[in-house]
Amino acid sequence: MARLVMKFGGTSVADIDRIRIVARHVKREVDAGFQVAVVVSAMSGKTNELVNWTRAAAPMHDAREYDAVVASGEQVTSGLLAIALQEMGINARSWQGWQIPIRTDGAHGAARIVDIDGSRLIERLEQGQVAVVAGFQGIGPDNRIATLGRGGSDTSAVAIAAAIKADRCDIYTDVDGVYTTDPRMVPKAKRLDRVSHEEMLEMASLGAKVLQVRSVELAMVHGVRTFVRSSFVDPEDPRLADPNNPPGTLICDEDEIVEKQVVTGIAYAKDEAQISLREVADKPGVAAAVFVPLAEANINVDMIVQNVSEDGTTTDMTFTVPTTDFDRAWKVLEQARDSIGYTSVQGSRDLTKVSVIGIGMRSHAGVAASAFKALAGKGINIRAITTSEIKISILIDAPYTELAVRTLHSLYGLDAA
Ligand code: ADP
Ligand code: ASP
Ligand code: MG
Repeated sequence: MARLVMKFGGTSVADIDRIRIVARHVKREVDAGFQVAVVVSAMSGKTNELVNWTRAAAPMHDAREYDAVVASGEQVTSGLLAIALQEMGINARSWQGWQIPIRTDGAHGAARIVDIDGSRLIERLEQGQVAVVAGFQGIGPDNRIATLGRGGSDTSAVAIAAAIKADRCDIYTDVDGVYTTDPRMVPKAKRLDRVSHEEMLEMASLGAKVLQVRSVELAMVHGVRTFVRSSFVDPEDPRLADPNNPPGTLICDEDEIVEKQVVTGIAYAKDEAQISLREVADKPGVAAAVFVPLAEANINVDMIVQNVSEDGTTTDMTFTVPTTDFDRAWKVLEQARDSIGYTSVQGSRDLTKVSVIGIGMRSHAGVAASAFKALAGKGINIRAITTSEIKISILIDAPYTELAVRTLHSLYGLDAA
């Protein structure tokens, strides 16, 4: 019998009425003959509230206790959905991460799943029971609850789909698929029928939070067919029962995409900060002198740009860090001033990284040049640029975010007619 994982995000389970609607979506698939494992997030806003409570209790706190607190949101929704399903006459049971078990590494707060024993779940599914699994959580090597990082229920869902060999993993959310850019910012954004794993990986890591990055990695590695779709539609709409027709986006291998666009989507990430070290000696070892202390402080450096002075003796070193790490990075650089040897350090906080993504860029020249020209035409200053085979990222001042995203979206012909 075909097996399905259905994942519902925070807005899809925001209150009891929405949980009842989710139960009807589940019932539709059970009635269609699927064995179903459901993965749920916390009710929307709940995880933020829980995180804030841990901070209020103590700004610097034990990560294991943070996990004990923030994992509770998913525990509540898994129980509530099991109750709603039982009320509809469906045999259902809730599962916490430790009960399956979903084993993670010990990085509390941002743990990675290392192993899932799917046998108990499969046993229950084969008995005709719906499993309602709390997303976002597992159990670490210390036998304590560990959470998977914000947005981690997507990863729980894909990992469970791989463990129980599900035929498909449906990610139900508040939009009906992956769009050419965030549809909340650009109403002209178009839904994509298919997106390759590589492009989705870039889009997610460059700011499109519709899927957690790790979930896309797992889908790619384990070949999980992942389908992004809306829970905000009538669960009994007959079109949803047609396996070839529910609206949504399939994340798939590149060779399953017939029409390859040059540019598939635009993503943006706010809360970027820039640091520039002026007149650093241009000699071997200097990059290590800058970036090793930052890495040791666990600061994630992203874009790096180096400009050599005219006489070739010094260089300006510019790089970006998340705004939340700006102050720490600044301190680290001040402490390392003697070993690096710069004359001054400058920084800006309120920046955005806008990225253009598309596998077609591999075989097309001029994509970056046209982006720079279009942004210049709107008076948007570019602070830094990085490129890879399938993406261009451009650092700009945050107030220009929307203008830049819309400009690039139109430039590459992504606007809906
Ligand atoms: P959930 O709570 O269901 O996990 P999220 O809020 O994490 O939902 O992700 C869905 C949101 O992602 C959408 O509401 C949308 O604003 C945002 N988003 C950003 N970029 C995109 C994109 N390219 N396509 C679709 N949604 C996107
Ligand atoms: N509830 C968690 C969060 O808000 C996990 C998730 O929803 O995916 O980050
Ligand atoms: Mg999410």
